[in-house]
Amino acid sequence: MSEECQDFEICGLLAEPGENLCILHLKSDAKNLLNFDEALKRHRGSRGDRFIRFFFPSKIDFSTKKFQNADFTDSLFSLSVSFAACKFEGTSKFCATQCLSSFDIQGALFSGDADFSNIVFLGDSDFFQVRFKRSALFDNARFDEEIREKYQDEPDPGAQFKEAAFEKKAIFSSAFFGIGADFSSAAFLGDVNFSKTKFQSLVTFSRTKFEGLAEFKGVDCGQNVSLNFSGSSFKGRTIFAAKGENERLPNEEESLAFENVEIDLTDVDFSDKSKVSFRHADLSKTKLLHTEVKGIEFVGVRWAQVHDYTWPRGRARNGVFDEILHNQQRSDGKTYSAPVEALYRGLKKNYEERQYHSMSGDFHYGEKEMRRHSPQLRQSHKRLLWIYRVLGGYGESLKRPVIAASLLLLVSSVLCYFGAAESQAKNVNAAKLSILQESVQSVIYSFRVMFLLRPDELRPAGILGQAVQTIQMTLGVLFLSLIALAVRQRLRR
Ligand SMILES: [Zn+2]
Repeated sequence: MSEECQDFEICGLLAEPGENLCILHLKSDAKNLLNFDEALKRHRGSRGDRFIRFFFPSKIDFSTKKFQNADFTDSLFSLSVSFAACKFEGTSKFCATQCLSSFDIQGALFSGDADFSNIVFLGDSDFFQVRFKRSALFDNARFDEEIREKYQDEPDPGAQFKEAAFEKKAIFSSAFFGIGADFSSAAFLGDVNFSKTKFQSLVTFSRTKFEGLAEFKGVDCGQNVSLNFSGSSFKGRTIFAAKGENERLPNEEESLAFENVEIDLTDVDFSDKSKVSFRHADLSKTKLLHTEVKGIEFVGVRWAQVHDYTWPRGRARNGVFDEILHNQQRSDGKTYSAPVEALYRGLKKNYEERQYHSMSGDFHYGEKEMRRHSPQLRQSHKRLLWIYRVLGGYGESLKRPVIAASLLLLVSSVLCYFGAAESQAKNVNAAKLSILQESVQSVIYSFRVMFLLRPDELRPAGILGQAVQTIQMTLGVLFLSLIALAVRQRLRR
């Protein structure tokens, strides 16, 4: 006499001979498939769509079927399963379901809440064009892949969510994507949460719509991760950030989000920039071309470091990854890129509005540096910009005009000492001055000429003297204004 199955409450069956589980629950690939199929059919007919802790030993094809309150909690599919074009009504549960092979659910429709939390995919999962009319929970879901051999020749498709529609909230927090994931052209119409999600490979959100709150907080990225958001649109509050401010332990060092991750934010439409925040994020490998950045909040962001040998402070300046890429593509030195220039202008304005002037100074430098190579610029304007850069670091350098002014003072003093200036005194037999006194006099005279103070004691001697004085005055004014500009920039900070 067989005993009841341990899960009798679910299946209503007797245990298999010598076992304590029925044909549906027995965890073995070796069970009789015909009996299993027969039992499964009867179970669906009489007891509905509760498949809790079922063990599916064969390929399962549920495609185009209708489910009511389907519950696959803790069940296991040892071979591939298809739910393609299925209709799920009521609440659907796939909690902690294990799928050892491919899981195909493309085109399915969930009218009620769908719960995939803690599900494990070891084969590929295909959610192409799945429509979730209510909430979709994928928290702690694991998208892994053990059966890699079959993809040796073709690119790994990864977790496929292409063109999926999430009409209410979607939760992917703490999910693990051990493989790539494709959310391109998907639509998140409600709030979506990717906080603490772990990414290990390429994740695509291109042309994806985000209409509600989109959270990417404390996303954990492995090496060689790249996130592609190109062409996507964000309408609601959008946060890319390191771990939540309050979650950090007191002694924990502040780490940046997206460390070393390539993020493609090309041509992204942030409809309300005041709702978009990048906090404590590494954007040094982020592409931003054609994306309007003015008004976006950047806090504690790390930008790309651009090395200009001419940069006044002897350090790299904060710049954008797009400029580095643009310069790398060209072997014939620097060239112009209108989008990079526009990007710098946007970032400059962004930081200016936030009164963060040292940062806006760097972006100002980047903008001017790009501008200088514009083919539309007249040669004379280009030369002017070149002088502005060399002598004043585009108004950002104090060191350069000071050095230039000192050199001018030195050269003109030497010239005056050797005859470019003569004594104003009528009496030629005036007391003879020592060499030191004469030198000091030349320096004082040159200084006064440069800064447009009325010189005493000496006056220009002959044509040469006149020329020296004129050049000195012109350059003196130029350097002085560059110094004043740099000082003003510094005081604003
Ligand atoms: Zn059972």
